Amino acid sequence: MTAEKTLECDVLVIGGGGAGLASAIEARALGVDVILIEKNFELGGTTAWSIGSFSATQTPHQISDGIVDTPDEHYDDMPKFSGPLADRDNPSLRRIFVDNANDTFRWLMSLGVEFFGPMPEPPHRKPRMHNVLPNSGAYIHHLGKHARNIGVKIHCNSRANKFLLDQNCVVGARCEMPDGTTNIHAKAVVLASGDYAANEELKAKYISPEVAKVDAMNPTATGDGHEMALPLGARVINGDVLSGPTLRFIPPPRGSIDRMLPPFKIVTKFMRLALKYLPASILRPFVLGFTTTSMAPELDLFSSGALLINKNGKLINEKPAELGLAIASEPGKIGYVIMDQNLAKKYSRWPHFIATAPGVSYAYLDDFRKTRPDIFHKAETISELANSLKLSRDELESSIQTHNQFGDIKILKPPFYALGPAKSYVVLTDGGLAVDNDHRLLGENSTPIPGIFAAGSAGQGGLMLKGHGHHIGWAFTSGRLAGRNAVKEARNNMAQPY
Ligand SMILES: Cc1cc2nc3c(=O)[nH]c(=O)nc-3n(C[C@H](O)[C@H](O)[C@H](O)COP(=O)(O)OP(=O)(O)OC[C@H]3O[C@@H](n4cnc5c(N)ncnc54)[C@H](O)[C@@H]3O)c2cc1C
Repeated sequence: MTAEKTLECDVLVIGGGGAGLASAIEARALGVDVILIEKNFELGGTTAWSIGSFSATQTPHQISDGIVDTPDEHYDDMPKFSGPLADRDNPSLRRIFVDNANDTFRWLMSLGVEFFGPMPEPPHRKPRMHNVLPNSGAYIHHLGKHARNIGVKIHCNSRANKFLLDQNCVVGARCEMPDGTTNIHAKAVVLASGDYAANEELKAKYISPEVAKVDAMNPTATGDGHEMALPLGARVINGDVLSGPTLRFIPPPRGSIDRMLPPFKIVTKFMRLALKYLPASILRPFVLGFTTTSMAPELDLFSSGALLINKNGKLINEKPAELGLAIASEPGKIGYVIMDQNLAKKYSRWPHFIATAPGVSYAYLDDFRKTRPDIFHKAETISELANSLKLSRDELESSIQTHNQFGDIKILKPPFYALGPAKSYVVLTDGGLAVDNDHRLLGENSTPIPGIFAAGSAGQGGLMLKGHGHHIGWAFTSGRLAGRNAVKEARNNMAQPY
C-alpha cells in the first residue's frame, strides 16, 4: 500500500470557479498561504459556462450614464424576480450582496475584467445588468492569472472527496490528485464547489425524479461539496429551486465567435466602445452570432402554433412551459421546432422573436438561416422536411395532423421550417448550503462548524438570485468575503498545530 501524501496551507479553497478564485485571491492578498484545488483539468466551472452578466449599482458604468441608483433600491427590486418564491429568500444575505456588489465589480475591473452596459432588465427600476467582454472566460483568464501571480498554489485535476476533521473542526480535505491521494491540512477551508445541476441523486432528492433525468448545461456541476458537507450536519436550503429545464438549441459544431475572442484589453476595449457607439444595424450580425448560439426558443413560439416533435417525428403534446421537461424523456432527449410560412412570417420581425440575449439582441427566423445553417431546415413539402431531418415522413405527417386537429393555429402553408435539435437542460440549481452572515457553514442546530466557510452556489444559503447577473455577482462577492473570513479563522488557529 502506498503512503498517502500530505500538503499543508493556511487556507484551502475547494473549487476553481468564480467564487473559489475570488476567495483564494482575497485570502492570499492578506498574506497567508493558499492552496486552491479544482477537480477539472482547467479552472472555470459554471462561471466559465455563463453569459457572464453581473448586476450591481453605483458602478462606473451607471455613473457615466448618469444613472442614480442605490444598493437599497437593488435590495428592494431583487425579490420582484422571484414571484411566489420571494418569501423563501434570505434577506440578510441579500443585504450583504447588494452592499458589496459594487466593490466586487470594481475589484474585477481592477484585475482587468471589462464590462459593457448597464442594460435595463425590468422589474429592476434602473439599468443594472453589466455584461462581461468578450465572454465569461475573461473572469477565469484574469482571476486565474492574478491568483498564480500572487502565489496561490493551484492544483487542477484534483478532487476533494472528504473533509478532514479534528473532533468537530474541519482541518482540511482528502483529495484525489494526479500523484495520488493527498490529505491537505489547512487552518481554514472555503467550499466553493458550485451547484448540483448534474447530480441525479441530489436532483431526485430535492427536486423530482423527472428533473433528475434532465442533463445539466455544465455536466461537471456534480454537487460534490454538498455531498461532502451533509455528513457534517449541514443542510441544503431551497433545494427544489432551479433554473430549467429549459429547451435550448444545441451549440454549433465549431463554437461561437464570441467564445473564440481572447479576453485581451485591446479586444475588450474595442468591443466596449463599439457596443456603446456603433449603430445597432452594424453591430447586429456580430451580436446575433452569440444569441443564436446559446439561446432558448421563446415559449411564446409554441403558444403561437409551432409544434415540438421528438427525433422520430412524434408530437410532444404538452403545455409550452412543460416542453423542457417532456423532451428529457424522449429518445436522445432532443426535439425539433416545426413551423409553416404563416408562423415564419410572424417570427421575422419585432415583437415576435425566436430567441433573445436579454438587452443585447433579438433573433428572428432568418437570423437562424444565416448564422445557424446547421439547425435550420426549410422544405416545400412535409415529406421533404422529414427527409431533411432524417425522420419518418408518416410520423411527421401524423404529428402535424394531430396538431392541426386539436390546435387553434394550424401548420398548413408551405414552405415548412424546422429548427433543431433543441435539447432540454437544467441551467443551475439554487439549493445552497446554510451559512451565517460570515459565510460560515452551519451544522446541527444552525451552529457554525469551526474551520469551514462556503461561497458561491455551494454557499447560497437560501438567497434568491433570480434575474440576470445575480448568481455571478454572488459568486464573486461571497467568494471574496468568505476568503477574508477564512483568513481571520486561520489566524485564530495559527497558534495551534496542524
Ligand atoms: C449557461 C449558463 C449561463 C449563465 N449565465 C449567467 C449570467 O449571465 N449571470 C449570472 O449571474 N449567472 C449566470 N449563470 C449562473 C452562474 O454562472 C453560476 O451561478 C456561478 O458561476 C456559480 O459560481 P461558483 O463559483 O459558485 O461555481 P462554479 O463556477 O461552478 O465553480 C465551482 C468549481 O468547483 C469545482 N469543484 C466541484 N467539486 C469539486 C471537488 N470535489 N474538488 C475540487 N473542485 C471541485 C468545479 O469543477 C468548479 O470549477 C449561468 C449559468 C449557466 C449554466
